[in-house]
Amino acid sequence: MTQRYGSTKAKAGVLSVVALVAILMPMWLLLLLWIRHEHALVEQAARNDAMNLATAFSGHVRSVIQYADTLILDLRDDAAHNNPRGFEDFAKRKFSVYGDLVALFGMIDARGRLVYTDHGPVEEPVDLSDREHFRIHRDNPGQDRLYISKPVLGRVSGIWAIQVTRPVFDQGRFAGVFSLSVPVSYFTDFYKQINVGDAGLIALVGLDRAPRAIASGNPLPRKETTLLPADRPYFDRARPDQGFYTGMNVLNDQQSLVAYRRLNDLGLVVLVQLAPADYLAAFKDREQLLVLSAGVVSALLLAVALLGFYAARRHLDNTAALKAAHEKLRQLVSIDLLTGAQSRRAFLEVLDAELMRAHRHRQPLAFLMLDIDHFKRVNDTYGHPVGDVVLKEFVAICRGALRAHDVLGRLGGEEFAALLPHTDADGAVRVAEKLRLAVAEATIATAKGDLRIITSVGVATALPAGDDPEHLLGRADEALYAAKHSGRNRVSVTPAGSVEYV
Ligand code: GH3
Ligand code: MG
Ligand code: MG
Repeated sequence: MTQRYGSTKAKAGVLSVVALVAILMPMWLLLLLWIRHEHALVEQAARNDAMNLATAFSGHVRSVIQYADTLILDLRDDAAHNNPRGFEDFAKRKFSVYGDLVALFGMIDARGRLVYTDHGPVEEPVDLSDREHFRIHRDNPGQDRLYISKPVLGRVSGIWAIQVTRPVFDQGRFAGVFSLSVPVSYFTDFYKQINVGDAGLIALVGLDRAPRAIASGNPLPRKETTLLPADRPYFDRARPDQGFYTGMNVLNDQQSLVAYRRLNDLGLVVLVQLAPADYLAAFKDREQLLVLSAGVVSALLLAVALLGFYAARRHLDNTAALKAAHEKLRQLVSIDLLTGAQSRRAFLEVLDAELMRAHRHRQPLAFLMLDIDHFKRVNDTYGHPVGDVVLKEFVAICRGALRAHDVLGRLGGEEFAALLPHTDADGAVRVAEKLRLAVAEATIATAKGDLRIITSVGVATALPAGDDPEHLLGRADEALYAAKHSGRNRVSVTPAGSVEYV
């Protein structure tokens, strides 16, 4: 029983776990799939945003530079044909049209001296022969090319500007440089309004790896002039002109997703850098909320499962306790509390079973009925408690004289019965005689001193052709009656066939 009860308990436990897993596994799996899907969508949206911005910004940069170049070419053309005064008028008209684009226009002679600016003729020529644009144009006299400088703080204008320059030729010989300073702000002002997040950047960088302008974002101050690492794919002309790159952004030390567009003809690259910390922030919040909710749901389900499990276990415990109590009660009912012999009910059940078995196997079965002689006197003389002790001892004496498989029962009061399987009439008489003697010879120690008792025994045997308990009992009772009447302390047998049956 304990085993079956234990396995039921284990089954309840396993069932709770299986039910819990069956609910929670798909839930978490779906959640993880959703998170992965959402993450991919957000990542793709960020890439699109970055590339769109890079496209727009590169278009803007290109048109600004084309503006500047057109202006320089116009001025150079005019200078070649006009006298200085006419050129000055022409330039003024042009500058009024181009407005903010021109921070400073300068003419540098073949030796690198600034000889004219749009602010008027220069009193003391400034030496600009060390400037990179000048050296490049001077050292490549055969090339009429546009050069875009790194941002420099103008010695005359006092503002940060990018210089767009072209060489000037006099009859095919290098004669100097025309330089147009375009304020960095001209490239960047519009894009400053675009929010690229706390850790994002929109930057214009030269293919010489030097930053030209930061349009939006917050670069670290000391990094604005740092050269970018050479291994970046956007510096490699062998790679596609536009694409993506993910890595550390050296301008602000942020892990970034970079969309780039390379303007090969201008020697520039436009970079739009978005930081996952920014563009994934909202997604991360949602993810956290979902995981938290799923965690709470899981915890609740776990609590419910545990409660269910403990309730089932308690129920099983109660059932087991009830069964144990039942069994105890059954034993109590089947055993006489005072003497420990079988109770009348239990004894009659055994008698029933033994009668059938004896008949089935054609085995003899004997039945003894015992009644203590003059027991009333014991009670009357020594009191009821002593009578109880005597009854107990009587059973002990009988047990000692019987075999292990004989059954002893208390039919009531001081009347007992013994059932002797595999025993015929002669055997039964021998056993009865043995019992009678054992009782008669025993000394029973009680609170009122040692006592001796005697008993009468009636013997009956089961009829080989089949018998029933009532008749067997009746015959034994009859024999007992005979024993009493013939003087007590003796054994009497009912001769088979002496009783008539209906
Ligand atoms: P007889 O020889 O004819 O059998 O005489 P007896 O006195 O033994 O028979 P009787 O039926 O007159 O008395 C039986 C007594 O047994 C009466 C009753 O008080 C006593 N008795 C019955 N059950 C118990 C019991 O459980 N404990 C005690 N102490 N006495 C009991
Ligand atoms: Mg008696
Ligand atoms: Mg009696």
